[in-house]
Amino acid sequence: MSDFVSPYLPPEAEEHVRKWSAEGYEAVVWPYGKREFAKCKNCQDEGNVLVSYLGRGPFKYLPSETKKVKWVDCEGMPRGWYMVERTIGYVCPECGGHRIESVATKSAREKRKAVSKMRSITNEWAQSRQEDELPEWLQEA
Ligand SMILES: [Zn+2]
Repeated sequence: MSDFVSPYLPPEAEEHVRKWSAEGYEAVVWPYGKREFAKCKNCQDEGNVLVSYLGRGPFKYLPSETKKVKWVDCEGMPRGWYMVERTIGYVCPECGGHRIESVATKSAREKRKAVSKMRSITNEWAQSRQEDELPEWLQEA
């Protein structure tokens, strides 16, 4: 069990989120897994904060096979799949994006991260399909 923290945003991002909300859409800030020894408490040493600007949603089933979608489950929003219009990474306002690691460590970690990110998407997909999401006629008797 790991805790998640929602990083705070730089003014530029807040402005974007405000504009996007004014259009009638939602934007979500990606939470980070809390790292006990992270030097930057805001981004957990990721160096950036990510915001996904969502389009239509929520959908109970995957709304598109070709477009980017995101499973959103957070407070104050109906749970479900949302179309992702755009995801932007902003430089962390707390640490200015300074990474503490050496370049070699960083690139090794990023490879690991890429794999684990892929896995979690796969799991998410599998999970959402395993639960009661499937239509009755597709469920095994
Ligand atoms: Zn930071």
